[in-house]
Amino acid sequence: MLTDLVQIQRFGEKKRPENDRFRKHLKTHVYVVRKFKILAAEVENAIDCKDCGNCCRVANTPITPRDSQKLAKFLGMDLDEFRRDYTVHDDEDGVILRREEGKGCVFLEGNICSVYEGRPVNCELFPHMVKGDGSIPARMWQFIDRATYCPICYNTLEAWKKEVGFWPTAK
Ligand code: SF4
Ligand code: SF4
Repeated sequence: MLTDLVQIQRFGEKKRPENDRFRKHLKTHVYVVRKFKILAAEVENAIDCKDCGNCCRVANTPITPRDSQKLAKFLGMDLDEFRRDYTVHDDEDGVILRREEGKGCVFLEGNICSVYEGRPVNCELFPHMVKGDGSIPARMWQFIDRATYCPICYNTLEAWKKEVGFWPTAK
């Protein structure tokens, strides 16, 4: 299984056209979603996010009002104070956790989430391949992007392609 982040970026970018063809393939064929989720769970179990933390460095973290309440409580802060200090508005993603230049999410310490027990739902479910709203074909465009920085996403897409005999499957 590929976990080196430099290689993930390289191969994920190189495979964008192939993964987009796979997205179109999924839209025109019917597969058992359960099997896809089992494969995604197997990849997730084989990869330790504590060795990575790349999503926290690379991607925005959208948060819901409920996430803000949970995090404020976790940090022992007033909700308004939490919003002022730790959230910003992003034109594309709405309210997100504040990010720091060269670090990513304000709560990332090395590869570790410093608010793990209070982290937003989006972080709990990321990269949303085992659980998530909407059909897999409808969410494939997100997975193609995430496969350029998330080892779970990259390897899961490879496992799905192999499962359905989508060619080429080699990295
Ligand atoms: S809250 Fe934690 S898990 Fe979520 S992006 Fe920030 S560091 Fe990562
Ligand atoms: S979800 Fe993906 S990018 Fe985030 S820490 Fe886990 S393997 Fe790395």
